[in-house]
Amino acid sequence: MNLLKDVKLLFLPNRCLHCKTIINENVSFLCLDCSLKLEYAHYTQTDDNPIKKIFWGRINLINATTLYIYQKNSPIQSLLKELKYKGLTSFGTYAAKAIISEIDQSPFFNTIDYVIPIPLHPKKERKRGYNQVELFGTTLANYFQVPFVKNALIKTDNNQSQTKQNKDERYKSVKNSFLANKKHDFHQKHILLVDDVLTTGATLISCCKALQKEHTIKISIITIAYAI
Ligand SMILES: [Zn+2]
Repeated sequence: MNLLKDVKLLFLPNRCLHCKTIINENVSFLCLDCSLKLEYAHYTQTDDNPIKKIFWGRINLINATTLYIYQKNSPIQSLLKELKYKGLTSFGTYAAKAIISEIDQSPFFNTIDYVIPIPLHPKKERKRGYNQVELFGTTLANYFQVPFVKNALIKTDNNQSQTKQNKDERYKSVKNSFLANKKHDFHQKHILLVDDVLTTGATLISCCKALQKEHTIKISIITIAYAI
């Protein structure tokens, strides 16, 4: 499969993943025009940023940040679609390195003990072949020199994609969708939860609550993008 992909790459020109223009083979993912359209959030240096505000009164977070602002029909939407559905897992590593360069300059995120991804339902992960936040999470875990605990959370129902649901429906559908894996003991530890896109925060809140039900923990959040 990979060999076939490599052979195809030898003969097919490298195209921008958003506008499909042919690009220089040394450029990653996007043409220059589309790269310039990427909107960086730059929230990592501030304590009370818009990501943290989403969770105010709902979950007590230590820190929260994101790399990009997500807009419909923008280059970031194309990249996240490729990451999620077409195996562009290298974008997860790329995004993690970009947010790490921000964290490096930040007074926050310096006490992380574990990195935990938002899980997919096992059936969905088998079908897709991977969890799209895994490389984003493992790259961050390597940076913090802490374990990446892939099975800390368990997705219990294989509910429909949230994209067509309104805000209330999303909250209801994810409310009890996650359980903490009792195998792990995170007592008094600082957990970093990672996800690809933050929208209403419903999924992340559900995951935080599942973990907090089992352990007394501190939680921070980093996502690749935030859909305003
Ligand atoms: Zn382009």
